Amino acid sequence: MRYGIIGDIHANLDALDAVLDRLDAERLDRILCIGDIVGYGAQPTECLARLRDRNVQSVAGNHDLAAAGALDITYFNDTARTAILWTRERLSPADLESLTELPLTRTIDDFILVHSSLDHPEQFEYVMSWEEAEGCLGAMPEGGPTLCFFGHSHVPITFLAAHNLLVTIDPDVRLEPFDKALVNVGSVGQPRDQNPDASCVVYDSDEKRIVRHRVPYDVDAAARKIIDAGLPTILGERLKVGQ
Ligand code: ZN
Repeated sequence: MRYGIIGDIHANLDALDAVLDRLDAERLDRILCIGDIVGYGAQPTECLARLRDRNVQSVAGNHDLAAAGALDITYFNDTARTAILWTRERLSPADLESLTELPLTRTIDDFILVHSSLDHPEQFEYVMSWEEAEGCLGAMPEGGPTLCFFGHSHVPITFLAAHNLLVTIDPDVRLEPFDKALVNVGSVGQPRDQNPDASCVVYDSDEKRIVRHRVPYDVDAAARKIIDAGLPTILGERLKVGQ
């Protein structure tokens, strides 16, 4: 089976549509999402509708639960909190309910989806270092899936256990049967690795191969919508520098 894995869309419809167009050329069986569909961007309703129309299943991101009122936002910074409150006002009761119902993890085929750390998915911690990755690798049950796709930091990174400390930014990785791997799929709607292009991953479970794609899109259009919506200007400006 061939899967497209996307995430951290953050209500950026321009980026989402560009990524879906690219994935359509990849002869995929299924597209899945690691969460944070909404928050920050100007088109939360449209992004939720697009995923529904395309039958994209997702796990819960912290911004999804926060927008639905199912997660305390006192620890969010001012900009994120402002965007969450703006988003909540615009979502229908059905949209809010669909966000509340997202599970924290999903196991599909031979892999797991989670938004942040697999060992404590409800705490939404970043997984940036090898120390943080080890906890997640340890949380993969013996005899179960050995591959986990995640997000949250918006920084594409891969941790491969079999190669002892190998951390790579840009995978074109063939997984051996003995590998355990954690793959941050990067962000569709707000990349933070100084590359403004949208990020996504294609996984072929027969070939055991993971390939990352970076997809240019109309960043200026997305930024303009954020500013025109009255959201904090920084949320538009940061898209242009991938930060
Ligand atoms: Zn996010």
